[in-house]
Parts: sequence; C-alpha cells; structure tokens
Amino acid sequence: MTRVFNFSPGPATLPEPVLRQAAEEMLDWHGSGMSVMEMSHRGKEFISIYDEAQALLRELLGIPDNYKVLFMQGGAIGENAIVPMNLIARTGKADYALTGDWSKKSAKEAANFGTVNVAVSADASRFTAIPKQAAWKLDPGAAYVHICSNETIGGVQFHWTPDTGPVPLVADMSSDILSRPIDVSQYGLIYAGAQKNMGPSGLTVVIVREDLLGHALPVTPSAFNYKIQGENDSMYNTPPTYAIYIAGLVLKYFKSLGGMKAIEERNRAKARVLYEFLDSSSFYRNPIAREDRSLMNVPFWLKDDKLDAAFLKGAQSRGMIQLKGHRSVGGMRASIYNAMPIEGVQQLVKYMKEFEAENG
Ligand SMILES: *Cc1c(COP(=O)(O)O)cnc(C)c1O
Repeated sequence: MTRVFNFSPGPATLPEPVLRQAAEEMLDWHGSGMSVMEMSHRGKEFISIYDEAQALLRELLGIPDNYKVLFMQGGAIGENAIVPMNLIARTGKADYALTGDWSKKSAKEAANFGTVNVAVSADASRFTAIPKQAAWKLDPGAAYVHICSNETIGGVQFHWTPDTGPVPLVADMSSDILSRPIDVSQYGLIYAGAQKNMGPSGLTVVIVREDLLGHALPVTPSAFNYKIQGENDSMYNTPPTYAIYIAGLVLKYFKSLGGMKAIEERNRAKARVLYEFLDSSSFYRNPIAREDRSLMNVPFWLKDDKLDAAFLKGAQSRGMIQLKGHRSVGGMRASIYNAMPIEGVQQLVKYMKEFEAENG
C-alpha cells in the first residue's frame, strides 16, 4: 500500500490512525456485531458515539454551556441560506465582510432572505489582504455580522477577531476550524463543513449561542431550523451518522496531539516551511499580505504558467497530488490541514526547489 501526500482543499487528507481504526471497526463496532453505518441513530451504541464526538468538540474548542452544538447536513453552502433563515429576521438585515470567493457567495445567498449590507470588501487589494477593522462600516441594527475566517480559495485568513459590539459575529470556519484555539464566546454562531479539517463530507457543524434561536423565518424547513434541531439533539432528522463517527475519531486524535495550542504550533511550523521558501524564491510567488496569510491553504504561482502542467505531473509522480489551484484563480494551491504531516510540506518544498533549478 502506498499513500500519497494529498494537498486537496477538500474533501481532504485524514489522519492515518483514524482510517486504520475505522477499517478495524468496520464490520463489528465494539462487539455490537454491526458497522456504525448500520446502526440506528437512536440506539444506545450510536448515541454513545454521538455524545463522545460532541463532548470532544466542546472540550477541544472550549465551547461554553450556553451554546448548542448541532451536527447537521447541507454543508457550508447550505448554511449560506440556513444562517439567514434562522437569524436575519430579528432585524431583517445583516452585515457581510467580503474577503474572497466564499464570503461573496455567502452574501449573495443571504440576500434572498433579507437586506445584505457589505460592511467591507477586500476588492481594492483584489482579495489579497483582510481590510483592517477601521475600514469596516458596521450597522448597529444588523441581526449579525458574517465573516469567512479562512478563504479556502484566495488563501487569506483572519488572525484577529472583528469587534462587532453587541451584534453577533457569525463565522464560516469550514477550512480552519480546529486548526488553532478560538474564543467561542466572541461568536454568536460558527459553522463548518467537516470535510476540510474535521472528517468526511456530509457533516456540517453549527455552534450557536442559545439566545439567538427562535427567530427563524416561517419558510425555514424544520430540518434546518436550529431551534428544532437543538431541542432534538440534532436528531429531528437522521444525522450523518458515519461522518459523525469518523469526526469523533478525528477529534480524539487531535486531543491526543495535545489539543488546540499544540495543533496550532504544528500548523505554524508547517506553513512556515512553505512560506519561507516561497519568499526566498523568485520563481514562485504568493501575493497575499504577510499578516493575512492562511496557515491552511497556500496558493502560489509559477513564474510562467506554461510550466503548470509539467509541475503538476512531476508532483504526481513523486506522490504529491491535488496541487492545482482553484479554476477561478489558476496557479497552484497547497492545502495543509491538520492531518498533513510536516514531511509532506518538506517533500513539496524539496520538489519545488528541484523544479526551479531545472526550469528557472
Ligand atoms: C469548502 C467550503 C465551503 C463549501 O462547502 P460545501 O460543503 O461544499 O457546502 C464553504 N465555505 C468555505 C470557507 C469552504 O472552505
């Protein structure tokens, strides 16, 4: 068996010990005689898996008791609608910070459900920097302020938390949740698709402050109503059971690494290897403002895009895959989530140096 270094932006690489354990438990989970996939979501076996995953997430992120943790379906793109359906009706309007493709998409979808104000846009820098707080025009009457904490395509990441006063801050953390410690109490709501840094696709995590519930628009489907899901422990409909189980194993693995601080250190060390090399090279280029660079998704461009195909082919033959940049921006992108070992980044940099020496 050979495993590649998979730099995919998502669904993304998972920790190998997790995959091994899942394989071992596939046919018979803990003497139950069943695969987790075959279990009733209301049976005691699955309830124990669910409770453990929920407890681990609460512990790792330090989620306060006045927040509900919901395990839903629909992905972050689904949440682009589900968030306003549940939250916007309190005042009918919301502020959106536009820092890249994902937050732009969120704002566009929200406009179906209320008035969207663009609090700030990074268009002047062509989305290569996060505008400083002083440039934001926040509406005190907004029902919430929405940000994307890490723009998976553009490669910018918030390394500070916007001050929105009493207006709840809502964050799409799909591509950087669990990559570093966060203070959940600074947010009204956090959502994330699992398939970047937490598990397989199909699971969407929503962490929501309880006092924000109860304002859903009447059109909100019950399965996407946070209040109803919260009252039913995410089991108003069948939750994505197998994805929750794998996420639970991933969370246990993250805990074994020492929790969020230790994981952030590892992620910083990995990103440093790549950014330091990019900055030292005149063959490769990363245009993102240094203080806003993502620790998770590192886009870079070769000096001549005619070399892109050869670069990707050489990477593939060395066991490094999914380095092609998003079709909307071109170039390359290395996604280096928690489960990417530093050896993968080191091997990538070694190859980039060789490629530069041959083609530079
Ligand atoms: C991947 C991603 C999404 C889209 O997630 P889906 O699971 O396809 O709905 C949204 N926002 C961010 C920041 C992402 O990285």
